[in-house]
Amino acid sequence: MPAPLKVLFVASECAPFAKTGGLADVVGALPKALRPLDIDVRVVMPLYAGMPWNDLDILDGFLTVPMWWGGARARVRVGKLPGSEVPIYCLEFNRYFDRPYLYGPPAEGYPDNLERFTFLSRGSLELCKALGFMPDVIHCNDWQTALIPAYVNTVEWMQPLHAAATIYSIHNLAYQGVFDGGGMFVTGLGREHFNPTELEHFGAMNLTKGALHHSTLLSTVSPTYAREIQTDLYGNGLDGTLAARAGDLTGILNGIDVDEWNPAADTHLPAPFDVNRMAGKAACKAALQKEAGLAVRPDIPIFGVVGRLTPQKGFDVLAHTLDRMLSWDVQLVLLGTGDPEAERFFAWADAHHGDRFRAWLRFDNGRAHRIEAGSDFFLMPSRFEPCGLNQMYSLRYGTLPIVRATGGLVDTVANYDETTGGGTGFVFTDLHPEALANTIGWAVSTWFDRPDHIKTMRRRAMTQDFSWARAAGEYRNLYLRAYEKRRGHAFE
Ligand code: ADP
Repeated sequence: MPAPLKVLFVASECAPFAKTGGLADVVGALPKALRPLDIDVRVVMPLYAGMPWNDLDILDGFLTVPMWWGGARARVRVGKLPGSEVPIYCLEFNRYFDRPYLYGPPAEGYPDNLERFTFLSRGSLELCKALGFMPDVIHCNDWQTALIPAYVNTVEWMQPLHAAATIYSIHNLAYQGVFDGGGMFVTGLGREHFNPTELEHFGAMNLTKGALHHSTLLSTVSPTYAREIQTDLYGNGLDGTLAARAGDLTGILNGIDVDEWNPAADTHLPAPFDVNRMAGKAACKAALQKEAGLAVRPDIPIFGVVGRLTPQKGFDVLAHTLDRMLSWDVQLVLLGTGDPEAERFFAWADAHHGDRFRAWLRFDNGRAHRIEAGSDFFLMPSRFEPCGLNQMYSLRYGTLPIVRATGGLVDTVANYDETTGGGTGFVFTDLHPEALANTIGWAVSTWFDRPDHIKTMRRRAMTQDFSWARAAGEYRNLYLRAYEKRRGHAFE
């Protein structure tokens, strides 16, 4: 039997241990889907405050991670991704990670984030040495791990880890890891790497730029986003760098955790349902209306929104649509946290449109499930969306998404065709209150005038395959390509 491909998967968050967004969902699910493909995949992340550290085993000894100020002695705790044999190693260094937030208070980063994630990046390589686990591929995810490809090419030069291929996956190009150039010493890389090809970008240090240069191959989380980020509209200043490596950049659509998000066996729901037993969905709708303190009415459509209240999600455009939308006989529930200004607005709107609109300004996973299940339509007017998970959850729960044509939303939602009843949702292009209102209006009129189309679209939506098994196969091919590029021969 040939040895399995060895993959080290490094990330700053992983569901269900620590999560602020979709990245954690990917890290919690993709490695589990890789394991059946004969891949020895192992995950590394920091040990944050609030994680179930008592359930994790402690590895003997300490890991010494070279930092600018000396060797950081870290403990390593190890567990398994729930429901799998995938090991997850958590680097314990309380000075950096025993804090209330993963990255900092809302809309701020901790001032020593460069140092914290230098530690994660450097520490993951030291862990490989301590374990005697020499990965064929190191899969890095977002800026918190962006220094790894540079380390593999520099400080590991002529060392066993230098043979590892590196993949850098962009989950959201809006977060690049930008720091003052004066902080180069923190990375441990020489000042000579602060140049416009590697880490320097418009005078600042940009960790993502370093990864785009040093990684063997690049990926992002949907084919459309892979194309978009090579343009100035979506490239966040790195479009030129990305376009220069267009041949090495692949878009692989995320899957969803089909066990966690399964309407037929979802413990958060008052009633289960599936494509052949839709009575449960009606019960979920009634329960959601009740939970929201809205009239329990099966005859009108209810719209759901779940997400971070940041400019990315386009909720400012929704805010400008709200009066018009709520003048119709519809209901809307929103669950989200984020920008204080947005929170204030939606709290105000809740008080003024209380009979039709409910805003819950907190993070509540169970309620996110109940909104997906109980709504008829789901709104995602995103300004940009690398992949997006909520629209896939919606499809699986028979809740038709209304999305802006960007990123992964394009790759997952097919626009309604009035003549044939085709499609799985409603798509608009202009990021403008008028366009959003018109599209919501289109969904409302379809609901009242062509209920048979809604029914067939729901069926179609609920039977799409968004499992991680498909994505895992594509990642495996990417790993094999990276291996061959790095080593000059195929993996065998
Ligand atoms: P992003 O990663 O940009 O935040 P995604 O749609 O890819 O967007 O993933 C968001 C994830 O976070 C989903 O699992 C969603 O349900 C969850 N989520 C976001 N905000 C909340 C909230 N306030 N309460 C519960 N879950 C939330």
